[in-house]
Amino acid sequence: MLSSTSFHLFETMDAATRLRLPICSYRSKHSQHFQKLLPILVSHAQESEIPYKQHERSRPFQCRHVHTQPRRHVSSATLHLPEIESATQAPTFPSPEIPVSKPPLSCLPLSTLIRSYLITAVSSVDILLRPSLATLSFLAHAKLPLFSPDTNPLIRMALKKTLYAQFCAGETPAEIKGTVTQLKQMGYAGVILAYAKEVVLQGKDAEAFDAALDCSEQERCTQEEIAAWTNGNMETVRLAEKGDFVALKFTGAGRQAMQSLLKGDICGPNLEEATHNICRLARERGVRLLFDAEQNAVQAAIDRWTIHFMKEYNRAGKGSALVYGTYQAYLKGTPAKLVRHMEEAKRGGWTLGVKLVRGAYLGSDPRQLMWEDIESTHRCYDGIAEALMRRRWNDVLKGEGEMAHADLVLASHNRESVKQARTIRDEQAQKGEARIGMVYGQLMGMADNVSCELVQEAKERKEMERTGEKVDVPQPFKYLVWGTVGQCSKYLLRRAQENRDAIARTVDGRKALGRELARRMGFVR
Ligand SMILES: Cc1cc2nc3c(=O)[nH]c(=O)nc-3n(C[C@H](O)[C@H](O)[C@H](O)COP(=O)(O)OP(=O)(O)OC[C@H]3O[C@@H](n4cnc5c(N)ncnc54)[C@H](O)[C@@H]3O)c2cc1C
Repeated sequence: MLSSTSFHLFETMDAATRLRLPICSYRSKHSQHFQKLLPILVSHAQESEIPYKQHERSRPFQCRHVHTQPRRHVSSATLHLPEIESATQAPTFPSPEIPVSKPPLSCLPLSTLIRSYLITAVSSVDILLRPSLATLSFLAHAKLPLFSPDTNPLIRMALKKTLYAQFCAGETPAEIKGTVTQLKQMGYAGVILAYAKEVVLQGKDAEAFDAALDCSEQERCTQEEIAAWTNGNMETVRLAEKGDFVALKFTGAGRQAMQSLLKGDICGPNLEEATHNICRLARERGVRLLFDAEQNAVQAAIDRWTIHFMKEYNRAGKGSALVYGTYQAYLKGTPAKLVRHMEEAKRGGWTLGVKLVRGAYLGSDPRQLMWEDIESTHRCYDGIAEALMRRRWNDVLKGEGEMAHADLVLASHNRESVKQARTIRDEQAQKGEARIGMVYGQLMGMADNVSCELVQEAKERKEMERTGEKVDVPQPFKYLVWGTVGQCSKYLLRRAQENRDAIARTVDGRKALGRELARRMGFVR
C-alpha cells in the first residue's frame, strides 16, 4: 500500500491537474516520492506495447466517417421507459466537454487511479494475492464479532479504505449519492445499484434450509427476512435516479424464498407481493430492474419468476423493458432457453429484457452444463449479442420467424465483446437501421480501461451527433453494490477471486492504469 504521504501527494497532484498547474513543480517538491515510483511507472510506460494515440487510432469504431449523402441526425435514444421520456439520459449531470484525443482513463480521479493500480497489481502477483484472498475469505465468513468487519472498527477501516472503496458504493445514502454523482460527472450514463445482502449456498447448506424450517420459523422468515429484503431493495430503488438500474437477487429474500427456489416452486405470495411493490416503485421512479442470475440449482425458478414479472411490467411497447432477466453464456443451454423466452415474449406481446453475462459460477456449478472451453463461451456470448442487436437469428441463436423485441444490457469486461457490439451499432447507425435499446455494464472497480473508453467515446459521439454525423452514442453504466462493509464482504471476496481468475485481463488493466499514471506524471505523452 502507498504511504499516506504518497496518497497525499497524488491527491495534491490531482488537484493540480484539475487546476491545470504544471505537474513538474510538484515533482521537484516531492522528488523523493517520485524517485520511488519512477522505476515502476517507467517500466509500465515501456511495457505498453502500443502508445495510447496509436492504439486509439487503430480502434475500428473510433474512426469518423465521411458522408457523401446529406447528413441525417440519428438519435441514440432508442430506449423508452414506460411513463418517462429519454429515460436513459442523465440530465442532471452534464458531461464535461473534453477534446477527442484525451486518453480514456483521464476521466478517473487520481486517487481512484492509484487505488485501482495497486489492487490490480496485487491481484496479478500470486505471492501477494494468496494471503490477501485467504484473509478476505476468513473475514467474509467470520462468525466471531472480533473478526467481523461490522463490529471490529480496525478491520472495518482497513477494508473500507481499500477494497470496499474500490468496488462498493457506500454504507449510507449520503455516501452512495456521492459515489453515484461522481460517476455521472465522469460521463457514465447511469449506474446499476445493488443491495449487498445475499445468500451463497455452499456444500450442505441447502439441506440445512429444509431442516431448519418448522411452522414458527417459517412465520419468522416471512415476517423478517422477506421484509428486510424488500426494504433493502425499495431503498435501493429510492437511491437510484431516473434512467438507472437496480439489480436484485431473489436468494437474498431469506430461507423461505431459498426453499421455493430450490424446489422450483412458484414465487410464494409474500415474496410475490414484495416484488410487485418493488416493480411498482421502480416504474414510478423510471428505474429499471435487473434480476441477477445465480447458481444453477436455483436458476430455473429464478427464470420462471422473472418471466412472470416481465409479462406484467414489460408491456409498454417496443424498447420498454422494466424487468430484465440474466442469461449466462457459459451454459450450453442458454441459447435454446433464450429462444424459448423470445417466443413467449412474441406470443405475449411484451418486451424481453436481457442482461447478457458470461457467468460467475464456473467454480461451483456443474461443469458439464458449461462449454468445455472459454473460446466456446466467447462464441456463445458474442453470437447471442449479435443476434439480439441485429434482430436476426444466427448459428448461435437459432429460431424462426421475426424476433421478439428485446432490450439488452451487455454486461461484460471483455474488450473484444464490447468492441464487436460497438462496431455493429456504428454500422447500424451509418445505415440508418433501427437499433434496439442497449446499454453497457461493467462492475465498479473493474475493467476501467473498457468502461472509460466507452465514456470517452460517448462524449465524442455526442459531439459528432451534434454536427449531424450518423453515429451511435454508447451508454456506459457501472454496477455498484451498497451495504455495510460486513454485508459487502462476500461480494468483495468474489471480486478479488475474479481478478485472480481473469489474470490476462487484470494484467491488461494494470498496464493501462500504469500507462495513465505515467502519463499524468509526464513520463509519457
Ligand atoms: C454488470 C454486470 C453484471 C453481472 N451480473 C451477473 C449475474 O447476474 N450473474 C452472473 O452469473 N454473473 C454476473 N456477472 C459476472 C459475469 O458473469 C462474469 O463473471 C464476468 O463479467 C466476467 O466475464 P466477462 O464477460 O467480463 O469476460 P471474460 O473475463 O472474458 O470471461 C471470463 C468468463 O468466461 C467464462 N469462462 C472462463 N473460463 C471458462 C472455461 N474454461 N470454459 C467455459 N467458460 C469459461 C466464465 O464465465 C468467466 O467468468 C455480471 C457482470 C457484470 C459486468
